[in-house]
Amino acid sequence: AHLARIEAVDEKVHAFLHVDREGALAQARAVDEKRARGEELGPLAGVPLALKDIFTTEGIPTTVGSKILEGWIPPYDATLTKRLKAADVVILGKTNMDEFAMGSSTENSAYGPTGNPWDLTRIPGGSGGGSSAALASFQAPLAIGTDTGGSIRQPAAVTGTVGVKPTYGAVSRYGMVAFSSSLDQGGPCARTVLDAALLHEVIAGHDPLDSTSIDEPVPPVVEAARNGSVAGMRVGVVKQFRGEGYQAGVIQRFDESVELLKGLGAEIVELDCSSFDLALSAYYLIAPSECSSNLARFDGLRYGLRTGDDGSHSAEEVTSLTREAGFGDEVKRRIMLGTYALSSGYYDAYYGSAQKVRTLIKQDFDKAFEQVDVIVSPTTPTTAFPIGERADDPMAMYLADLCTIPTNLAGNAAMSLPCGLAPEDGLPVGLQIIAPVMKDDRLYKVGAAVE
Ligand code: GLN
Repeated sequence: AHLARIEAVDEKVHAFLHVDREGALAQARAVDEKRARGEELGPLAGVPLALKDIFTTEGIPTTVGSKILEGWIPPYDATLTKRLKAADVVILGKTNMDEFAMGSSTENSAYGPTGNPWDLTRIPGGSGGGSSAALASFQAPLAIGTDTGGSIRQPAAVTGTVGVKPTYGAVSRYGMVAFSSSLDQGGPCARTVLDAALLHEVIAGHDPLDSTSIDEPVPPVVEAARNGSVAGMRVGVVKQFRGEGYQAGVIQRFDESVELLKGLGAEIVELDCSSFDLALSAYYLIAPSECSSNLARFDGLRYGLRTGDDGSHSAEEVTSLTREAGFGDEVKRRIMLGTYALSSGYYDAYYGSAQKVRTLIKQDFDKAFEQVDVIVSPTTPTTAFPIGERADDPMAMYLADLCTIPTNLAGNAAMSLPCGLAPEDGLPVGLQIIAPVMKDDRLYKVGAAVE
C-alpha cells in the first residue's frame, strides 16, 4: 500500500531519492514467512520506513543529496540501518535532503527540491525535508532524520509531524555521513508521539563503533509516551525565544500551548538564557569548521565522482576538479568559512570564541534545568516559506534554526510536535520541548500529554 502511495504522489512531492521497491517487498515477505513459521518477530515487524539518504545502506545508493557521491553504493550498513533491519522494519527507500545536511529547506539537494505536502510551492523544511514530507503525504508511517542544528525538528514543525533529536550520543553515528561530528545526531520522525517513541527505542543504544556513543540504558521513552502527563511538572519558557522575526500566528499557537500545559497542571517558569542570542553565530563557526575537516575525505580518489581523470591532470588537480564539480554552492561556502575560521591566526578569534559561547549555552541550560523539568518554545520562528524565497539569502535561511540550535550546541534532547495551524496562512506550527541530557523520556511524557 505504501509503495502504491509513493507511486501515486511522489512524482509531485519528491520525498524520495531512491525507492527500493524490490528490497522492501523482499523484507515484507521475509516478515510474513517468519510469522508463518512461528518465529519471534522484531518490535516493528513489517512497518514501512523512509530513511534519510545520509545513512549507509549496503547495496543501496547513498548520495547525501550530493553529486559527489552519485552512483556510490556503500559496502556496509550504518549501525542504525542494521538496527532497523534487526527490528524487522521494511525500508522503503532513501529520502531527499539538503546536500550533506546543510540547509533548512531541502532546496540545496543536488537532485532538486521536495515540496511541502501542505502546499507544494512551499519548502518542507530541511535538511531532512524528504523524510518529513514522506510522513506528511502518507508515503511512510515512520522515517529517520538527522539533526545537527534542527534538521529533524524544523522539517517536523513545518510539515505538521513529530520529530525528535535524541541526546547527543544516544543514537550511533557509525555509517551516518558526517557533517559536524560534535553536533550530528540521528533520530526518529513519525506522525504521532507514540510512534516516534517506538522507533526511538529501536535505534537508540550504545555502539562500540561510535566513540561518542553513550554507554547507558535508553531512557523509558515508550512507557513515557503511553503515560502522557504534565501534572506537577515545572515547564520553562525562555524569554529569548520570541520577538522580532517571529510570525504572529506562531506565537499565538505557542502561547495557547503554554495555557494548555498550565491547564493540565504544569507550573510555568519564565527563564532568561542570554547566551542563546549568540547560538546562531557560534553554530555557523563550529559547524562549518567541522564540515571543512570532515569533507576533506571527498577527494575524487576514494568515493563516487571523479572528474579530470584523463591523464592530463595531476592527482591534486583531479581532487580540485572533482570537488568543484561535485559540491554545491552551500557546501563550498561552508568549507571556505570553516577553513578560514580554523586557519592559524584566526583560530582563537573565531573557532575558539565560538567554543566559549558553546560552554555558556551549556551553562544556561544547566542553570535552567535546576529550575524546570523541561523547556518549551516554538520550533521555528515562521511556518513553511515559499520555495525560492530564501534561496539566495543564506542569512535568512539560517534564521529558520534560531530555536533549535542551542540544543545541538549543548547536546541535550528535544522534540517538535504539531500545535495547530497558523491563522494567517493555515500552515502547521511546531511546539518544541527540550529536556536535559539523557532525560529523553520527558519529551515523550509531555508530548503525549499535549498531542
Ligand atoms: N539548517 C542548519 C544548517 O544548515 C541545520 C542543518 C542540520 O541540522 N543538519 O546547518
